Amino acid sequence: MKNPTCPICAQSAIDIGPIVHPCPALVAGVPIDLDGIRFRMMQCTSCALQFKDPLIPMEKLLPCYNSSPENNWEHQPNPIKRRFDQIAALAKQHARGTRILDIGCSNGAILDYFGSSWDRYGVEPGQDAARVAQQRDISILAPLLEDLDPSHTFDAILAIDLLEHLHDPNAFIARIMAHLNTGGIFIGFTGTTDAPSFRLQGSRYWYASLPEHLVFYCKETIEHLAKKHNATVEHYERTSHIRASLTRIPRDTIRNLIWKGVYACKGFAIAPWRHKLNNNPPPGWLSANDHMLFVLRKQ
Ligand SMILES: [Zn+2]
Repeated sequence: MKNPTCPICAQSAIDIGPIVHPCPALVAGVPIDLDGIRFRMMQCTSCALQFKDPLIPMEKLLPCYNSSPENNWEHQPNPIKRRFDQIAALAKQHARGTRILDIGCSNGAILDYFGSSWDRYGVEPGQDAARVAQQRDISILAPLLEDLDPSHTFDAILAIDLLEHLHDPNAFIARIMAHLNTGGIFIGFTGTTDAPSFRLQGSRYWYASLPEHLVFYCKETIEHLAKKHNATVEHYERTSHIRASLTRIPRDTIRNLIWKGVYACKGFAIAPWRHKLNNNPPPGWLSANDHMLFVLRKQ
């Protein structure tokens, strides 16, 4: 069978290993039937994007997002743990105006943290979450970016924990640029395959085991997208998804290094261990520096 081509640049891709989804699999707290499909991780030979093959269709994912229970998302996440302060500081430093849009804004927690000095808008498919965001004075303009009226333009657009959910990152960035004023900024926060932890575990990495995560970028992919859409990379840093406690960092690292060691030894030929290693994701590694935070500026 012919390998699929890259969703960003349509170049050839190579198979880099199996994806291991948990069983049962959940998306936004809602069970999803993956029909027993065996997913593979592919990597583009041109822009270095990694992506699942097959991509789980949006028709299967959207009902899960739409019916996600309100309590699936923290109402008041700890802003420091979730790096809201870091994202707000970047927006303040780089934006040339105050009109800001958060795509997939959930219950509006991050824009709530930004405060009323910003003119705040959101796009959110989850009805319960959108209602809470509106109670927080965030104007919900549409369920999805593609539903947004072209007349809406912004000085800053955020996509936090969103880029990894896209089927067509290229079309998404084109839409972002269309909704940005000239000189406007796009702030993205997503996983990066440049991370040593991601490289260590490859296609089996915890971040790829979430069914709703479909595409996985690295710095090279972001630079490729920026160039293609006439934007400049104003800021780039690799960081962890959460500011983890000092005890969690060694705990996660030790558990995952042990997993890798046992996996490399093929479970010491102990059949139940081999079965478990092959069919379950490794331990979570939420404290790893496996995310990137970047700012693109529309030229
Ligand atoms: Zn590509």
